[in-house]
Amino acid sequence: MPYLKEAPMTTSRHHAFASDNGSGICPEAWAALEQFNTGYTPAYGEDEHTGAATDAIREFFEVDCEVFFVFNGTAANSLALASLCDSYHSVLCHERAHIETDECGAPEFFSNGTKILTVGGENGKVDLTALEHQITRRQDIHYPKPRIISVTQSTEVGTVYTPDELKSIWALARKYGLRIHMDGSRLSNAIASLDIAPRCITWEAGVDVLCMGGTKAGLAVGEAVVFFRKELADEFGYRCKQAGQLASKMRFLSAPFLGVLRSGAYLRHAAHANAMAERLAQGLAGVAGIELQYPRESNAVFARLPQALSDGLHQKGWHFYTFIGSDGARFVCNWNTTEEEVDALIADVTAIGI
Ligand SMILES: *Cc1c(COP(=O)(O)O)cnc(C)c1O
Repeated sequence: MPYLKEAPMTTSRHHAFASDNGSGICPEAWAALEQFNTGYTPAYGEDEHTGAATDAIREFFEVDCEVFFVFNGTAANSLALASLCDSYHSVLCHERAHIETDECGAPEFFSNGTKILTVGGENGKVDLTALEHQITRRQDIHYPKPRIISVTQSTEVGTVYTPDELKSIWALARKYGLRIHMDGSRLSNAIASLDIAPRCITWEAGVDVLCMGGTKAGLAVGEAVVFFRKELADEFGYRCKQAGQLASKMRFLSAPFLGVLRSGAYLRHAAHANAMAERLAQGLAGVAGIELQYPRESNAVFARLPQALSDGLHQKGWHFYTFIGSDGARFVCNWNTTEEEVDALIADVTAIGI
């Protein structure tokens, strides 16, 4: 392949911890793409591979559900939220939620103006008291009516809601007639971390609609919108099409899900990423002057680094985000993060010193 003479420089290990979408395609997803890259199939999701991937997701959650494959998480969240509410409703979520901070207003846009209302809470999880306060603080017609509680699993700061925590949120949702949306862009890391059946933190904990991550779990592209309450999926296909999210060669979005689910790689890779994050957390915790910011429960480590250390790491070429305050650094591990990469980062931290 003469047009691919050199590997691009950006595959350097210095990008290993910037985000879990910096990694490539995992072998199981790649194999599925290759396997289904033959012959002809019906388009727009009418093919048998998409049907099989949908069944694999039903088996994964041990329940009948409606499944739609879209290109990315922003679309998955926005369209799912829009399908759960009307334009005069509101969505309640944590102040750090991706739907609030990282989707450029797409949830409001696709729902024609549904307002997002945030609450605080330790370790990236919604605080129940604050949540109830936000739900009840206004009940007049001049204020958008609360309709959805959105939770992120695992959270934006790498923590994981337990089944009991989710059930407490569900109790509140039932009390006030609200629906539950779960942003599961890193759902696999949460399941692997808790080491429980996927149903325990989804439909058995009251989740109505789940956005199930694919990209960060090792796919090239693609997330699945999973409706556990099937009636809510009514006409969802139209929403996807109108939003430009209906893939015509759908098998290449869906088949990789089949590949990672049927092989067990979906959770195996997540467990590996979590283990690498634990190795990194332990390494960093051993360096005096570094403070870990949140409990390490999934595949990310957040640490408060002295400015000189942060600058030193950047000078050595390491990429990582420091969007939490001025001294918080986020390191994310992937399905393919190696022990050597983790140890190289720790070695540089130690070499630069405090
Ligand atoms: C990455 C991510 C998404 C999806 O983002 P896209 O870039 O739109 O695919 C959604 N939620 C969370 C919490 C994420 O980290």
